[in-house]
Amino acid sequence: MLRIAVQSKGRLHDDTMSLLREADIKISETKRTLLVRARNFPVETLFLRDDDIPATVADGVADAGVVGLNELEEKGADVEIVRHLGFGACRLSLALPKDEPYDGPAWFEGKTIATSYPAILRRWLTAQGITATIHVISGSVEISTGVGLADAIFDIVSSGSTLVTNNLREVETVMQSDAVLIANKTISDEKRAVLDEMLFRFDAIRNAETKKYILLNAPQDKVHEITALLPGVKSPTVMPLAETGWCSVHTVIDEERFWEIIGKLKAAGAQGILVMDIEKIII
Ligand code: ATP
Ligand code: MG
Repeated sequence: MLRIAVQSKGRLHDDTMSLLREADIKISETKRTLLVRARNFPVETLFLRDDDIPATVADGVADAGVVGLNELEEKGADVEIVRHLGFGACRLSLALPKDEPYDGPAWFEGKTIATSYPAILRRWLTAQGITATIHVISGSVEISTGVGLADAIFDIVSSGSTLVTNNLREVETVMQSDAVLIANKTISDEKRAVLDEMLFRFDAIRNAETKKYILLNAPQDKVHEITALLPGVKSPTVMPLAETGWCSVHTVIDEERFWEIIGKLKAAGAQGILVMDIEKIII
């Protein structure tokens, strides 16, 4: 049984639970208990505040966990980062009142900075050779400058809209973050096998995320021209249609490439183009 620490509520909870669900690991969340066992897989989830996840995995109370890289960096736990999961993308940045002139990191010398991430900020300031006062607060960091608590803030930014709302301007990005799957460094072979099986499923889901399954009809004499436009996982499947002189072409392509080549496909004579989501890809 592999025990995975998951944020009990908050920004990473839903994406973590959907990833487990898509990997066909069935966890019933109805009971709201701390520890829930999957019905069909040797995994149990331990629901915690994200602050507690790195240490819980490092000391082996949980075997693995899902947490923001920012939280892991802040806590500095000795764990293995097994995968970047892609969701919960954000950055940790320094921001100032928007009309404040800024000409580089030296601006922060002697200033007070409010943050919930003092360790990461301290490391950055030291690397820049700057002495500043760090004011630690656990929430609503973005209002600190407005109420005179600090000269600047160091906080999570994703779209930047919270900064704009609070008349702040991002001036330095200190780190990029996303959710990571972490594991205890000394788990048993048996648990490692469960973790590997779970990773295999996660990877199949990640591989499928940016890909589309594409089907189109092509005149027989244009098949070469059309398939040349379609780099597939291996090579496209070409099947004859009931109507002579026509065939059906099936392949998998990167979603972003699709918009690039759609015009060329039509110009080459492709018709009835269907584009479908893919759930999983095993390469
Ligand atoms: P907890 O109650 O578990 O301590 P929290 O309030 O500390 O929760 P959340 O706000 O739920 O934390 O954020 C959890 C993680 O989600 C952050 O550490 C970060 O990695 C990521 N995150 C936070 N804000 C954003 C955002 N705006 N966009 C994307 N990811 C974010
Ligand atoms: Mg927290």
